[in-house]
Amino acid sequence: MNYRHAYHAGNFADCMKHALLVSLLSSFLRKPSPFVVLDTHAGIGRYDLEGTEAEKTQEWRSGIGLLEQEGPESPLAPWLELVKKAGLPHRYPGSPMLASFMLRPQDQLICCEKHPEDKRVLYGLFTRTPNVFVHERDGYEALRALLPPKDAKRGLVLIDPPFEQTDEFKRLVEAVQTIRTRFPTGVIAIWYPIKHRTPVRTFLTALQDAGVRDMLTAELLMAPPTDPDRLNGSGLLVIKPPFGFAEQAEAQLARLKTVLGAHDYSVTQISPE
Ligand code: SAM
Repeated sequence: MNYRHAYHAGNFADCMKHALLVSLLSSFLRKPSPFVVLDTHAGIGRYDLEGTEAEKTQEWRSGIGLLEQEGPESPLAPWLELVKKAGLPHRYPGSPMLASFMLRPQDQLICCEKHPEDKRVLYGLFTRTPNVFVHERDGYEALRALLPPKDAKRGLVLIDPPFEQTDEFKRLVEAVQTIRTRFPTGVIAIWYPIKHRTPVRTFLTALQDAGVRDMLTAELLMAPPTDPDRLNGSGLLVIKPPFGFAEQAEAQLARLKTVLGAHDYSVTQISPE
């Protein structure tokens, strides 16, 4: 539990993950029936871009720092509007805050954060938001406890672990199987790092071999994935992507590639519906 997201908030990987998250959540707004978002590894919800952690790495400068001038016609605009609402250029919203902005009264956000100090900060952010619930608990264990959602038939499970453990990809394969059993209609989004291709390929193949259908990957590479000691890129695996998401992801990643000066991007359906 050494990982602190405050050092990385607003970097290229966050920009990719959060822009795509907003697109996924937008699709739930097309229908009036309630939806639930389960954010299993939630972090502190909002990050200080002027704090000591952000100052130390300056990672946000080559991420959100390059996107402040995007106009309303940009495919990134719906996400950037929420980032500004959270306090850009001083503060940057994490996944719980972005999701909370998109909830209607009938929807719910459930956050799990294992680090007690981070949970305390996150809890403080939502004391006046009645449909956001914050748990101090293991996000993987929460899948069994909190799914299927009690109050909605639709939902998104976001899994964004720190990848400190060497068996994280293996745990993710088990997590997908648990979610599919307990909440088969749920949309699943899993963030993963791309250092070298091999662990990512092994992860995705394990899911294909387990018969998981309707999987799409959206990836942004800042450099060729050949140096295993470097975060060369990042990906979002989406299981049961909503209608139109692939096209939105394509447009968003193309724009991120241009503005962030990335090496490459891709959106790929890796198993059929
Ligand atoms: N999803 C957040 C966002 O986009 O703003 C960032 C999450 S950060 C990458 C991962 C978080 O998971 C850290 O805050 C860490 O303390 C927490 N964490 C680590 N292991 C966990 C576990 N087993 N269950 C729940 N949270 C965990």
